[in-house]
Amino acid sequence: MKGGDQPGLMPLEVAQARLLQLAAETAVPEIESLPLQQVDGRVLATALVAGLDLPPWANSAMDGYALRLADWQGEALPVSQRIQAGCAPEALVPGTCARIFTGAPLPAGADTVEMQENVELDEAGRVRFLQALRSGQNVRPQGQETRVGDCVLPAGTRLGPVELGLAASLGVATLEVRRRLKVAVLSTGDELVEPGQPLGPGQIYNSNRRLLIAWLQRLGCEVVDGGILPDDLALTRQALADLAQVDLILSTGGVSVGEADYLGVALREAGELTLWKLAIKPGKPLTFGHYQGVPVIGLPGNPASTLVTFGLLARPYLLRRMGAQRVEPLAFEMPAGFVWNKAGKRREYLRARIEAGRVVPYANQSSGVLLSAAWAEGLAEVLEGRTLGEGDRLRFIPLSEILS
Ligand code: AMP
Ligand code: MG
Repeated sequence: MKGGDQPGLMPLEVAQARLLQLAAETAVPEIESLPLQQVDGRVLATALVAGLDLPPWANSAMDGYALRLADWQGEALPVSQRIQAGCAPEALVPGTCARIFTGAPLPAGADTVEMQENVELDEAGRVRFLQALRSGQNVRPQGQETRVGDCVLPAGTRLGPVELGLAASLGVATLEVRRRLKVAVLSTGDELVEPGQPLGPGQIYNSNRRLLIAWLQRLGCEVVDGGILPDDLALTRQALADLAQVDLILSTGGVSVGEADYLGVALREAGELTLWKLAIKPGKPLTFGHYQGVPVIGLPGNPASTLVTFGLLARPYLLRRMGAQRVEPLAFEMPAGFVWNKAGKRREYLRARIEAGRVVPYANQSSGVLLSAAWAEGLAEVLEGRTLGEGDRLRFIPLSEILS
């Protein structure tokens, strides 16, 4: 990796493309066959192919009466059978209709259903249809959703509630998925203390550890909690040596320029590390490399920078290594509800909300202020070199799109 050697700042797209390329080369190869109840959040390893027509037979979309439209002259029809969901109906007797309920199979010979609200029963119990009928109305034809052999979910699909429901609808009890990624999380810095402990002078609580562990778990990763690395070379070497069997080492802090960078030193001794200076704000410094062949991503330590760099760089990298096809979040063009006078050299990701259909940034965009992201609903992208007036459009990435 020669990224850090380039003069100037690295455009975000370049960093993303490099990481995705490296991720594709190291995607987890192992496949597991697991029951549906264990695959939420996993990535499908082999395509789900329909083994059934869905629906398996034509059925009624309404509670009503089924008839054969071509045989009907407008007369009232006697009811020859009653078909509930779960029943196997007889063929329709010519010159009659069938009482039918939602989801019940259409009897052979019938092709049309009228909803019960549009009929009247006469004294003899015959059904009078009150409105004109259209052939096939209120019928769900066999195979309208899937046909046997259709590719329903391609390999690389991230499985969620909808995909699990769909697999179940096809009678599939087991899916082939990629194994989980194992990610070690390291926080660095002598100033860090865990919640629940008293704060000494100059100390702050460790927020990134909880932020990243919860986020990685939502992404379906297995997390190895590496705790806090003090600013000490020997302890840092030792902590790294304990992390041999992971797919990624993810650290925060210690990548600012001019810092006594113990993690960087220890990593270079047993691997390789380059510093990328990204043309984004927050989150300029990012390191990438490996430790004894295990990939390492070092995120900046300020929590809002951690959020932005994890969301825009580490998350797609991890998803691609998991074998996921779609790794980019959905984003929307929205009108600005603010003015941006000073064109910047770096692309800014403002923690922002939508108010009355416009993007409104949090008042304090300092990279140390995680409250900005808690208040926000998304990241609003102000491109480098750009100024904005009220109503000018910019890209808005909902946080809900990147937080899982
Ligand atoms: P560093 O890159 O180590 O100089 O850290 C940059 C800033 O982020 C400093 O203000 C650190 O105190 C802060 N920081 C680093 N790691 C964490 C963390 N895990 N939780 C909260 N703040 C952090
Ligand atoms: Mg530090």
